Amino acid sequence: MAKGYDDHQARLSELNLLGKALTRRAKSCCELCEASGVKLTTYEVPPIPVEPELDQCLLLCPTCYEQLNRPKSIQTDHWRCLTKTMWSSLPAAQIIAIRMLKYLADKADWAAELLEQAYLEPEIAEQIDKAIITEKKK
Ligand SMILES: [Zn+2]
Repeated sequence: MAKGYDDHQARLSELNLLGKALTRRAKSCCELCEASGVKLTTYEVPPIPVEPELDQCLLLCPTCYEQLNRPKSIQTDHWRCLTKTMWSSLPAAQIIAIRMLKYLADKADWAAELLEQAYLEPEIAEQIDKAIITEKKK
């Protein structure tokens, strides 16, 4: 039958297994903007490993999730939350924060200023360029 569909379902159930641990880590808040009381979705930070890994996953609110998946829908002001997230002790959150700031730096002065303050461990800096947010061309 449709292999792509089965693979997708298998992935989802593997991600579900991580769900509890993620929820505990995130304390039921979005791991980027700290929104609470909203539906949280598991987001895998690219590059996506073959087997889902807790450290490569973030639990995100619909706003963060949607905008990360659809750069065209990015609302610059939503990402002011990154002022805090860029100092997260969670490497995956830090990677997305910096990656998003790099994306926003062209559009917003505050993002460019935050980037200048950012301090990154070398191994995190290395991963940033892999987690590229791209605008899909049609
Ligand atoms: Zn969020």
